[in-house]
Amino acid sequence: MEEVKILSAKFAIKDAHKLKVAKKHGAYATLDKLFAMAPVDVIDEVKRSGLRGRGGAGFPAGVKWGFLPKDTGKPVYLAVNSDESEPATFKDRYILVKDPHLLIEGIIICSYAIGSHDTYIYIRGEYTTQVKALQAAIDEAYKAGYLGDKVAGQDYRIDVTVHRGAGAYVCGEETALLESIEGKKGQPRAKPPFPAVAGLYGCPTIINNVQSIASLPYILDKGADAYRAYGTEKSSGTHLFGISGHVERPGMYELPLGLPLLEVIDTIAGGVWKGRKLKGVIPGGSSTPVLLPEEAKTVTLDYESMAAHKTMFGSGGIVVLDETVDIVALVKNLIDFYHHESCGQCTPCREGLGWMLKLIKKILRGEGSPADIDLLRELCDNIEMKTVCVLSAACTMPVRSYLDKFRPEFEAYVTKTNASPAGLQQE
Ligand code: SF4
Repeated sequence: MEEVKILSAKFAIKDAHKLKVAKKHGAYATLDKLFAMAPVDVIDEVKRSGLRGRGGAGFPAGVKWGFLPKDTGKPVYLAVNSDESEPATFKDRYILVKDPHLLIEGIIICSYAIGSHDTYIYIRGEYTTQVKALQAAIDEAYKAGYLGDKVAGQDYRIDVTVHRGAGAYVCGEETALLESIEGKKGQPRAKPPFPAVAGLYGCPTIINNVQSIASLPYILDKGADAYRAYGTEKSSGTHLFGISGHVERPGMYELPLGLPLLEVIDTIAGGVWKGRKLKGVIPGGSSTPVLLPEEAKTVTLDYESMAAHKTMFGSGGIVVLDETVDIVALVKNLIDFYHHESCGQCTPCREGLGWMLKLIKKILRGEGSPADIDLLRELCDNIEMKTVCVLSAACTMPVRSYLDKFRPEFEAYVTKTNASPAGLQQE
């Protein structure tokens, strides 16, 4: 089992974030080919590659581009989602710092394909290092003529603006992101209309994640078939997997989709640390339902296998939990986070997550009853899918999985057979 170097090809090269070095290693080499193609052919190539949005939803990128209405007379915007706030997710930041010109080249390809002249890169406010690296690369690209009025000498204008968020998880949701760029409170919009029809300033807008956009230069250069050579039939290509938690070698690894999860943990990440036993795996960021060790044995790293195991590929942020993890304390942290990040416009999310937090704290204190566990479970069912956005589900889906798969641990707290110091410390 080996890593692949498509997105990460320049990560180990010194100063690859600088234009001179990046160019020496192939940056912007696709632009001649791009402008010789018709935009519709670029979209077709991306569709054929099977590239799916790498932000979490996994929607096919080329298909999304095809939703743009034709001839509206309005400008078409591209918004690059660089918010990366899902706990356990740390992939896009590598691209932003180590190879920002790859992202800019991808932006040029996408903009040309969808007929856009203005891109907003929405980046979380805390990413100070990443903002600096990205802005420096954008400035270089303007100077070299890769951005501006005549991109690569062609009669095609592209301007790129970096928009820093204020550190709200919910602004990773695409319509909250648009609201935030417009200078409003970052609260998700009711859909439809979807952003492809009425997005930024009411105009057609495509929103793609950093990694999705950064995958485009390879697809255009080598072709859709070369991209499809990696991964599975329905989950093609590679992904930057962030592996963290209780493993010997945590880190970010580029791997083809479709590999067995447990094998990746054991070989690439060096296995569960300190010779301990595996208790569970969070497969794709904190909002994805947890997998038991026996499930981790059979699941593969692709959208279909994850769905078949009733969880999600998500952001590819894998968290390994060893046998010492206090699941009840973990669930308390999880609910605490999502409750804090609720934008507050829907009652089930705003009040429901607060109610769940009170219950889990009560259980952790050893003051709960079996009925409280049942109520927590019931709340998950009653909150989910009854809100404007999926933030509430991002909390209830994993919580339900912990309740169902680790019920005895919750019961131990309410029957007072477990006064876990780890859990009580969390309080
Ligand atoms: Fe806001 Fe929560 Fe409603 Fe999403 S589900 S719009 S975060 S209140």
